[in-house]
Amino acid sequence: MGMAEELVYIGSREIAQLLQYWELLPVLERALANFSSAGGGGVQQPLRSTVPVAKHNGFLGVMPAYSAEDDALTTKIVRFYQRSSSTTSSHHATVLLFEPSNGILKAVMDGAVITDMRTAAVSAIATKYLKRKNLDVLCILGAGPVAVSHYEIFTQMFPFKQVRVWSRTRERVERFAETVKGPVQICASAKEAVLDADVVITVTMAMEPILFGEWVKPGAHVNAVGACRPDWRELDDGLMKNSVLYVDSRVGAMNESGDVILSKAEIFAELGEVVKGTKPALCEKTTVFKSLGMAIEDTVTAKLVYDRWEVKNKQKS
Ligand code: NDP
Repeated sequence: MGMAEELVYIGSREIAQLLQYWELLPVLERALANFSSAGGGGVQQPLRSTVPVAKHNGFLGVMPAYSAEDDALTTKIVRFYQRSSSTTSSHHATVLLFEPSNGILKAVMDGAVITDMRTAAVSAIATKYLKRKNLDVLCILGAGPVAVSHYEIFTQMFPFKQVRVWSRTRERVERFAETVKGPVQICASAKEAVLDADVVITVTMAMEPILFGEWVKPGAHVNAVGACRPDWRELDDGLMKNSVLYVDSRVGAMNESGDVILSKAEIFAELGEVVKGTKPALCEKTTVFKSLGMAIEDTVTAKLVYDRWEVKNKQKS
C-alpha cells in the first residue's frame, strides 16, 4: 500500500484555524532564501507540469517539491479554469503530504487556504523588502479569493491609509467589500484605482494587460500575481521595461510568465536573493515582483499545517 495506516484529511475550515500569518511568514522567507541559494539550498523543485484542458478552458497543474531543511515532501494538484460566472473561483487545489523517509502518503489537505495564504504572504514579503518608506495607498486589481487574502495580510502588516479595489464586474467587487474585515474604496476603473498608489497588486484571470506603466507612480511597488501562462498578460510592456523586475523563480518566469517572456524584460533578481542579501532591494525605483507561485511554498506551508494539526490532536487524546 502507498498510504499511511491513518491517512488524514485536513479541510479548509480546519486549515484556516491552524495557519497563522505570523508563523507562516518566517517559514516562507527561509524557503525563498534556500531556493535561491547556490546549489538549491536543499530544495528540489522541478518546473510545474501543466496539462491544458482546452475543450473546457482549463488547466491542470502538478507541483511536487522537497525541502531538506524541513524534511517535507509534497505534491500540489491545482486546477484553474476561465469562468464565465463571477460567483465561483477559477482555482481549486489539493495538497498531498508524504512521509519523506519512505514516500508513503500521510495527509491529504484542501489546497485553497494554503494557496491563498502562501501567495499573499509571499507578496507581502516582496513588499516588505521593495516598498518605499511612505505607504499611503494600496490598490488591488481583482476581487477573487486571492485578492481577499492579499487584503488581509497587507492591511495587517502595513499602515496604509486607504485601500482601493477594482474588478470588471460590480457584483464581484461588492462581494469583496462585504467579505473583507475593514474599509475599502471601490473604484469604477483600474486607472482610477492605480493613480498615486504606493503598492499595486494585480490578481486577476486577465489574458491581456490591465495595468499600464503610465498610470503607475514612479517608485511604486507592484506585485503581479495573475497571468501564469506564457501567453497571458496583466502588465503592459511600458511597465515591464521601465521597472526593476524581481521574480520568485527565474526558470519559472522564463517558462511560464507571459509578462516576462513577451515583454523581453530583464530579470534583476529572485526574491530569495534579496531575502539572503545577495542582490539589493532597489526601493527607490519602480519595482515589479512577478509571482508565479512555487511548489516549495506549498510544501513548507503544508508541513506547518500538519505540525500544528498533530499538536492539536495530541492535546485532544
Ligand atoms: P478568481 O477567478 O476568483 O478571480 C479572478 C478575478 O479576475 C476577478 O476579479 C475577475 O473579475 C477577474 N477577471 C477574470 N477574468 C478577467 C479578465 N479576462 N480580465 C480582467 N479581469 C478578469 O481568481 P483567484 O482569486 O482564485 O486568482 C486570481 C489570480 O491569481 C489568477 O490569475 C490565478 O492564476 C492567480 N494565482 C496566482 C498564484 C501565485 O502564486 N502567483 C496562486 C494562486 C492564484 P470579474 O469576476 O469581476 O469579472
